[in-house]
Amino acid sequence: MTVVPTGVRGEESSLVARLTLEQKVHLLTGADSWALHGESAVGLRQLITSDGPAGVRGTRFDPSNPSTSLPCPVALAATWDVGLVEEIATALGQEARTKGVDVLLAPTMNIIRTPLSGRGFECFSEDPLLTSRIAVAYVRGVQRAGVGATAKHYVANDSETERRSYVARISEGVLRELYLPPFEACVGEAGVFLVMAAYNAVNGPTMTANAILLHDVLKSDWGFNGVVISDWSATTTTVPSALAGLDLVMPGPDGPWGDKLVAAVRNGAVPEAEIDDKVSRIFSLARRVGGFNGSLAAARPELVDPGQLTRVTSRTFVLLGNGRGLLPLKQANVRSVALIGPNAIEPQTQGGGSIRVLPSARVNLAQSLRRGLGETTTVSVHQGCLTSATVSSPLDGTLRDPVTGKLGARLEIRDPAGEVVYDAPIASSVATWWDGLPAAVHLPGSEVVMRAVFRSDTDGAHVLGAAGAGRMRVTVNGTLLAEATSLFPGEVVEALGRPPELRVPISLESGRDIDVRVDYRPEKRFVTLRLGIAPQRDDEELLEEAARAADESDVAVVVVGSAEGTESEGYDKDTMVLPGRQDELVRRVAAANPNTIVVVNSGMPVLMPWADQVAAVIHVWFPGQAFGEALAETLLGIAEPAGRLPVSVPRAEADSPVLRARPDAGDLVYREGLLVGYRGYDRAGTEPHFAFGHGLGYTEWTYESLTAGAESITPGEDLTCTVVVRNSGKRAGHEVVQVYLEAPDDDTRRPIRILAGFATVDAAAGAAAEVKLTLPGRSFARFDEATRAWAWRPGTYRLRAGRSSRDLRLSAEVVVR
Ligand code: BGC
Repeated sequence: MTVVPTGVRGEESSLVARLTLEQKVHLLTGADSWALHGESAVGLRQLITSDGPAGVRGTRFDPSNPSTSLPCPVALAATWDVGLVEEIATALGQEARTKGVDVLLAPTMNIIRTPLSGRGFECFSEDPLLTSRIAVAYVRGVQRAGVGATAKHYVANDSETERRSYVARISEGVLRELYLPPFEACVGEAGVFLVMAAYNAVNGPTMTANAILLHDVLKSDWGFNGVVISDWSATTTTVPSALAGLDLVMPGPDGPWGDKLVAAVRNGAVPEAEIDDKVSRIFSLARRVGGFNGSLAAARPELVDPGQLTRVTSRTFVLLGNGRGLLPLKQANVRSVALIGPNAIEPQTQGGGSIRVLPSARVNLAQSLRRGLGETTTVSVHQGCLTSATVSSPLDGTLRDPVTGKLGARLEIRDPAGEVVYDAPIASSVATWWDGLPAAVHLPGSEVVMRAVFRSDTDGAHVLGAAGAGRMRVTVNGTLLAEATSLFPGEVVEALGRPPELRVPISLESGRDIDVRVDYRPEKRFVTLRLGIAPQRDDEELLEEAARAADESDVAVVVVGSAEGTESEGYDKDTMVLPGRQDELVRRVAAANPNTIVVVNSGMPVLMPWADQVAAVIHVWFPGQAFGEALAETLLGIAEPAGRLPVSVPRAEADSPVLRARPDAGDLVYREGLLVGYRGYDRAGTEPHFAFGHGLGYTEWTYESLTAGAESITPGEDLTCTVVVRNSGKRAGHEVVQVYLEAPDDDTRRPIRILAGFATVDAAAGAAAEVKLTLPGRSFARFDEATRAWAWRPGTYRLRAGRSSRDLRLSAEVVVR
């Protein structure tokens, strides 16, 4: 294949011409973990990149530089509301801008192919149309603030198992119809500034060197004129990646380009025009984000407005069941609430991996509920059962720095010669590599020492956990209590998400201080060191206490879900079953109190075998830092849980069209073809537990009419249609009108129906509303692999409008000529 650069844009070419080959190539690899090189010869400053989709970390990851933690991306997609997503993305872009960030490494727009996807919470949906619409809104919002968005991870980065090496085997038709459309839409409709080439390979070549998908499809077919950036350390080649269309290798300063690429140009393996094209793309990115204008960081970063955040967060909550209409709670009838569950005490507000930020506010569900319910209602709090993979962090206020006496702990770093090169307080008992610790922490043989004074508020058996991969020693009051060495997990991010932990039982007296010291010698490299201390609790006792409390209260709110480390970048989930004895907890609480509301706090759907035995179920995803306020407002009916499922929820794991995505000898074969998510359930005739698109809200809706805007359309033409709905319930409400399309087809490899349009609408009780939707011409097409083009099959297509993919209430027909 001959590679033709897509052309140096005129305005940049004179700048490019001022640089030597070495200067140009220098710009094509990062300066460090997050910054690009500047170039004084052309007045270019360093551009700063930062993760990630549910907040912006910024240039420093420390408590003095916190970030707004937003609902995770699948939650944003659960709003099905492009206006709302664009609005919150604009606020996120502004926060990034004022933090001096030029490029946000977001959004993630891979398709949620399986409910066990470790990183599914970071994607939007199992459906390409919903993913595309939400992704376009997100990109527009971020870029409106003058910050570049990054469409990632291009493409087929749909599972985490062997993510750096697997070869996705996908037919071209399936790629074009399912996995590529969100990227195509962000290029064509949102003008996204960057696209990130994924770790995995697709049909042979790895994505950083995939000329077909980067050069031919992305740059030539779609006319992408931005920067193709590599995922972190994904680039493994010099000439193939440079020729395939990759523009920027991250992170730096080392990597496979540099001098090797200069040599490749000199010996003719890579045309210099190819380098010029890459540099000009970086210049035009810089121009768009103000990279020729000096630093744009503000003195004080502008965080997202808390009121706006709470409003958006409750719109992401999906009310799955509310059979007896217990919700919203009638405040006058509720004198006592038992708040139960591991996630009631330690809510999981974010998933694991690069998406994590240091939130600017802490969630305290009990406090938020008490505030919402008022003084006349009591709220008691009960753990219910244990789930965490690591020992919980010490409670607020129980840990002190032994040197200053202030809250927190002390961190010391000794270089390989044993010399102390760092000695400073740390706000929490968790230290990670991105805290900006000195480089010595990464030297083989260095040691990290965490010291703290701990005072328990309970007597008796406790457990102390020291987590991190490598050699760990735990000393209490000068006595060495335990020592162990663990191996580094397969994935760096796994060492962060679920580090091996040394657990030490100790007996403590309430109110008495102990000196804790953890000596840690990292294996391979420093990723995290975490100290946890918690009372030793027995599940059986906790379950009994929870049931008793439920029995004695008017209402039980049980918050269950993923534990710390259950869902993360770097590894996939093993099961959809809730960790620990949470299913049993829900059953026992429900048996004790019929007014049991279950709040499911997980990124991906879980099995809910007890769903019919409880009064109400709300799925809240990983909701970010406004969880408490949004939940209180939702339970009390101040806000409506307006979300709809962007993923199907099966009754049993085996019902999922694709469950485990484990490569076989390096190959990950997409055997299901187009039949992912609801498309697979429909074709197999399997009843999902909760269907794609499902969500009740707080009112009822009648679907009155569906009218196609034309009797027939020509191939490629969009179709408008009108749906009239009426709010037939007792309160004002919010509805997501969904229109699905059924093609005249008997090909069982194709879906029976696909989502072709959706819109949100608000109406007062009793009021009707007319909703206009546009179904894209492409929804009527399929990709013909023989001609390698979109094809429209003539015939009669059926439109079906309703409240979910399985609650279709109206239909109409249209002919494609
Ligand atoms: C992730 C990217 C992320 C990058 C930088 C990679 O491991 O896959 O999504 O942007 O790290 O943190």
